[in-house]
Amino acid sequence: MLLPTASSFDLGSSSLPAPSLLRSDADGHLRTVKTLVRSTVKIPPASALPSPILSLRLGNWVKLICGASFEDAADVRNLSLVYTLAGVDCIDCAADAPVVNAVNEGIEAAMSIAMVKRPWVMISVNDDEEDLHFRKAEFDPEDCPSDCPRPCEKVCPANAISLQWVLQEDETEQNNRLGQLKGGVITERCYGCGRCFSACPYDRIRALSYVRDPTTTSKLLQRNDVDAIEIHTRGRRTDLFNDLWDSLGDSIENVKLVALVK
Ligand code: SF4
Ligand code: SF4
Repeated sequence: MLLPTASSFDLGSSSLPAPSLLRSDADGHLRTVKTLVRSTVKIPPASALPSPILSLRLGNWVKLICGASFEDAADVRNLSLVYTLAGVDCIDCAADAPVVNAVNEGIEAAMSIAMVKRPWVMISVNDDEEDLHFRKAEFDPEDCPSDCPRPCEKVCPANAISLQWVLQEDETEQNNRLGQLKGGVITERCYGCGRCFSACPYDRIRALSYVRDPTTTSKLLQRNDVDAIEIHTRGRRTDLFNDLWDSLGDSIENVKLVALVK
């Protein structure tokens, strides 16, 4: 297996997430992955790789970015497994307990397959609603014109939009004009990339921005399986940053790294 050479893998801006190796029948799938990995690739042992802190100091830091808003736990777990095997130094994920659990499950699964190093787990938060990493798309499919060719579904790189035409009880396939479009945005898969906003010819899609709850963040930082935090701040509103920082209190002392992104 080749080790990654880029400084980060931003899955939020690339193609589809990895297939769900562990979505169900976890033990069976994990056995399959173990057999596959052990028979096809040579994983460098943890002792052959620099620790995350040494990588950081050497400038060889490699981080998997799952996406600050991507919350599909099954895919996050699978990605964490694969990239831990690949030797990344850090896995950056949403500041959400089920997502953090999923990252750690993926790491543990990888470490049960090979003697790989444990990457740091980093959570991403924000201090205001203007950072584009912290938003979700939303629309009501019942407001969509029946003849719309649904470009929103096609452009979404995360398969986060799912629409179905549902017939009403007294309709037939031949006369379905009274049916309704159902479905919409699968919230946990949407990472707010914005591609669907401009793709919609009827301007039906809204962006819902949000700020991560500092209390939840503080609890996450107190866990032993969270190593780092990335704070997205615009730098113009020091009051907002100070509010967030004060809310985190002593929990910030538990992490090895605090990264600021402007
Ligand atoms: S913003 Fe739209 S295109 Fe991007 S992930 Fe969300 S639903 Fe998909
Ligand atoms: S492209 Fe716009 S109008 Fe068409 S289905 Fe998607 S959200 Fe609805």
